[in-house]
Amino acid sequence: MKKLFTIFGNPVSHSKSPLMHNLSFQNLNYNGCYTREKLEDGTKLRDRFFDLDISGANITVPHKEEAFKACDELDEFAQKVGAVNTIVKKGDKLYGYNTDAPGFLKAISEFRNIKKVLFLGAGGTAQSTSIILRDAGYEVTLLNRSATRLERYKTEGFKTYTFKSFRSVDRYDLIVNMTSAGLEDDNLPCPIEILESVIEETKACVDVIYGKETPFLKFAKKHNKPTKDGSDMLLYQGVIAFEYFTEHQFRFEEIKKQMQKAFAL
Ligand code: NDP
Repeated sequence: MKKLFTIFGNPVSHSKSPLMHNLSFQNLNYNGCYTREKLEDGTKLRDRFFDLDISGANITVPHKEEAFKACDELDEFAQKVGAVNTIVKKGDKLYGYNTDAPGFLKAISEFRNIKKVLFLGAGGTAQSTSIILRDAGYEVTLLNRSATRLERYKTEGFKTYTFKSFRSVDRYDLIVNMTSAGLEDDNLPCPIEILESVIEETKACVDVIYGKETPFLKFAKKHNKPTKDGSDMLLYQGVIAFEYFTEHQFRFEEIKKQMQKAFAL
């Protein structure tokens, strides 16, 4: 019987996930179909999941915290970060996972000799990725426009700065734009003076925004730094979600090979 999957979010019309997963289902001969569901009220996610009679789902902005609450069981990492982007139904229970953070970790693994990482931004994506990076041995510092979002990071022991309090006393091996600055505008994620004070000593720059060259990546390229956008993070979170959806029937590399084709279209 065909298994159904979907992505919940608002908006979802731009999402690449249906294409990524459907191509993989087709080319790996898995009897599955993946759709998209615009969901305005995140508290309705669980009911909607059961109404649609689906086997699994991805969850995107702004419902990852509601998705966390909607699950009966959470894996250890999802529990720790409080955000879920992948749900799988097993029996009549919903199991929640976070594949964004392992996807990001894999995406930056190509950069060698990285220890100190500066995150520009402290929103939802920064939350799970900062924790997985720390668990993997990186030292993460967060710089954010507003002070309020930094409170929880401070409590968790991260070094944090606002634009006003920032002092470039450290050298950062990797700088990551974790904000939405540059997504639908031409903004840098922080004042250019701050970027200028850290760029020379950095080894590489990464943006989590994908499919465009953001002002941040343009700035990094101008300073001759290796860069990458958020496409690999998107690809890898999808591959890991696909592994959960199909109960690890396929190897990572063979899923990756098929899913990647969605980026060439
Ligand atoms: P949140 O809404 O949770 O957080 C937004 C962050 O961006 C906050 O730190 C906010 O700062 C900051 N910000 C927004 N606009 C500006 C600006 N003009 N200047 C400086 N700071 C700004 O967003 P998410 O964490 O969910 O998403 C962040 C980005 O990650 C998005 O661009 C999203 O597309 C991308 N993403 C990519 C994925 C991928 O697979 N490649 C997966 C998930 C997300 P403040 O606190 O001051 O408001």
